Amino acid sequence: MGFLDRFLRAAHFSGGVHPDDHKRPAADAPLRVMAPPARVYVPLVQHIGAPARALVAVGDHVRKGERIGAPHGAVSAAIHAPTSGRVIAIGDIVAPHPSGLPVRGITIESDGRDEWGELEGCDDPFALDPAEIGRRVAQAGVVGLGGAAFPSAVKLSGGLGARVELLIINASECEPFLSCDDRLMRDRAAEAVDGIAIMLHATGAREARIGIEDNKPEAIAAMRAAVAGHARIRVEVIPTRYPMGSEKHLILVLTGREVPAEGRPSDIGVVVHNVGTAVAVRNAVRFGRPLVSRIVTVNGACVREPGNVEVPIGTLAGEVLAFCGGLRADHGGPARLLLGGPMTGMQVPTLEVPVIKGTGGILVLDAAEVGGGPCIRCGDCMRACPVGLLPLEIAARVRAGEVDKAAGFGLADCIACGCCAYVCPSRIPLVQYFHHAKGELAARARGTQRNETIRTLTRAKAERLEREECDKAEALARRAAASLAAATAAKQPAAVAEKAVEDANQESGVCA
Ligand code: SF4
Ligand code: SF4
Repeated sequence: MGFLDRFLRAAHFSGGVHPDDHKRPAADAPLRVMAPPARVYVPLVQHIGAPARALVAVGDHVRKGERIGAPHGAVSAAIHAPTSGRVIAIGDIVAPHPSGLPVRGITIESDGRDEWGELEGCDDPFALDPAEIGRRVAQAGVVGLGGAAFPSAVKLSGGLGARVELLIINASECEPFLSCDDRLMRDRAAEAVDGIAIMLHATGAREARIGIEDNKPEAIAAMRAAVAGHARIRVEVIPTRYPMGSEKHLILVLTGREVPAEGRPSDIGVVVHNVGTAVAVRNAVRFGRPLVSRIVTVNGACVREPGNVEVPIGTLAGEVLAFCGGLRADHGGPARLLLGGPMTGMQVPTLEVPVIKGTGGILVLDAAEVGGGPCIRCGDCMRACPVGLLPLEIAARVRAGEVDKAAGFGLADCIACGCCAYVCPSRIPLVQYFHHAKGELAARARGTQRNETIRTLTRAKAERLEREECDKAEALARRAAASLAAATAAKQPAAVAEKAVEDANQESGVCA
């Protein structure tokens, strides 16, 4: 299949946009590495799934890479210390979430040594059993670095329950302003391809295809050079069209096959991982290194030195911005702060929030980049939506606080691609509305589930107590019958024994 086929497929998926990508000059600036700050703030939930359980106490000394949070449940991820130092607090910290609501996290004061703990590496990952690779990836707390933050071990080790034929590496990075994957492929292509080879071994897939949009020629060249000699891994150039990075669209363009509605890629034998995740998997398996840092794009017209920075997890976004020279003095000031890209990212009220595993970008946009105004009911958002929703109607319901009605308009089907917000001439932050409403619906569902669990437990307790009463009464009746038999045998006055049986039968009447 050639580029033309992939181009035609991309042209035929409904909706989608071709935005001005705003990736350069940030993408062209050399990758910088940031030293750990004085304090890191590490949330216990940075992934899809249940929060981790804290394994340390205030006052403990931890080394870099030491496990400080244990996964909790089937879909969860371990959390590790991003640097060495002392735990100074465990409690609520402001989370990278549009609500600004706090989440539970661990604060570590750096000892300035950035000293690694013991690591369990492996010289030959291909000699390991695939299940062992999954175990090591889980131990290292690796999650999808494309933004979804789904625990990677679940997808790698067959946790989705289907046989995988094809491994797709999502290196499309279709979101405007972001270039962390582009920079990673330019600078660490050999590491990425090594990670992809390990993933092939772990999943049992026959081949891997790396999908890269055609607006990244340097990354394409670097990855093509790195895959030379890997017969089962190839680079596929795909057209630049948003939301190409959405799993279902990428699979369609690369294979011509559609994931069934309500289905998952594994239903058609495909698994998709982000290219940054491949490097994290390699570090976990070859060197035993947990996921304690990631590359973040710092971009937007207000940033003095835009570029890509490798940042310890838990570093405040404001400190990363300061590392990039802070705000431009010759500019009107920030109009919008975002963690992630402008399409799917989260608008935050302050940059005093930590970078977490899923944070691909810190954007400080000016008024011209944001725009703004009321809805003029132009319908552009409807035409751009790749899943055929009515974004303006959903947003109107959310604004009115009617999230149930928003759900009735198909909110659950929204893939949060941001196409609607991108084309909106009034620059209404539609995706932020949808994130908020989905969060509220999820909280309600959790509340309903909790109430149902309490009801079930209460019912079970009442039934158990009733059963115990029955058992007690039956035992009493049996003992009385035995005593009657014994009395008869010993020729005791029958009236005494009969009275005992009568009493016992009255007692056991509760079981009738
Ligand atoms: S694109 Fe924006 S202005 Fe146009 S209908 Fe949708 S929400 Fe309203
Ligand atoms: S409504 Fe959801 S799926 Fe449709 S364009 Fe907007 S963000 Fe994308």
